[in-house]
Amino acid sequence: MPELPEVERARALIEERALGREIVAVDDADTYVCRPHVPGELSDALVGSQFTSAHRRGKTMWVATDRGPVLGLHLGMAGKIVIGDAEAGEPKPDGPVLHPVWDRFTVEFADGSALILRDKRRLGRAVLDPIIDHLGPDAAEVTRKAFRERVGHGAAPLKARIMDQSVIAGVGNLLADEALWQARLSPLRPAGELDDTELDRLRNAIRAATRSAMRKGGVHTGELIPHRTRDGHCPRCGSPMSRATVGGRTTYWCPTDQT
Ligand SMILES: [Zn+2]
Repeated sequence: MPELPEVERARALIEERALGREIVAVDDADTYVCRPHVPGELSDALVGSQFTSAHRRGKTMWVATDRGPVLGLHLGMAGKIVIGDAEAGEPKPDGPVLHPVWDRFTVEFADGSALILRDKRRLGRAVLDPIIDHLGPDAAEVTRKAFRERVGHGAAPLKARIMDQSVIAGVGNLLADEALWQARLSPLRPAGELDDTELDRLRNAIRAATRSAMRKGGVHTGELIPHRTRDGHCPRCGSPMSRATVGGRTTYWCPTDQT
């Protein structure tokens, strides 16, 4: 499932390859992915304009245009952004498309390239002028002061607190387990019990895990991730991993050194 690092890679791809090109066609026929818009609404808003900048907060991404409308893109559970380029022999809307059934939303440019939301599970979104007010600061960029204030209170288990997108945005299930393990903090601790030293350690661990995942290609590359199995052992001390549902998600942690 895409978490902050995967979405940042998608944002960077759009920034690198989809800005400054005239939009000549938009396939917005998938009324579920493009809800609440009706077919043609996204097309009417975007055709004739150019994307000017690509932004992200947490797992939400949006692309600004030179004429005003903003295109929000969300990767959902399994979506990815593909930039098709005729010259590179990659798929484009009117050419050989590798996964036509999975291409839920397509923006075609005058030079023959295209931006595609490819999503096997159809849980991604394309929406005009997305609302991002409900999101907390980005988990990779939140300041130490804001992190202490936002994360460090309440009775909710620590893992649920850092996955609450209104508290900080971008931490999903795998990134949460990895960062808590790196910071040696139990996912079950009430968030309000942490002192400033522990909160700073957690913030650093989230940032480090995010940077590492961006560099290595995704959250699945985390050091703990291969050991998140029923018979898994802590790669640091060898203890059998504990497993429980925390904040509605399957959680693994080391009962010996995560306290
Ligand atoms: Zn351990």
